[in-house]
Amino acid sequence: MKGGQCLNSDEDLCCPVCHDIFKDPVMLSCSHSVCKVCLQSWWTENPNRECPVCKRRHLKRQLPPNLVLKNLCESFLLDKLLQ
Ligand SMILES: [Zn+2]
Ligand SMILES: [Zn+2]
Repeated sequence: MKGGQCLNSDEDLCCPVCHDIFKDPVMLSCSHSVCKVCLQSWWTENPNRECPVCKRRHLKRQLPPNLVLKNLCESFLLDKLLQ
């Protein structure tokens, strides 16, 4: 984990845990999104299944992938690559 400020201009594409562009984002029941791997390691330390942003508990069993966000991140990274 890097920590600190997001290195990218678009805050909306930043994971609140690793402060990097989302990688396989999943959506919590509070509608916050976190990378799947970040959430899993967060929940290992916080077994209450809280959201890392607002601390609300995620009560559903399922973690739906946030495909819209995933696509946004992919096109953002592609854009950066092509510049
Ligand atoms: Zn992350
Ligand atoms: Zn939340």
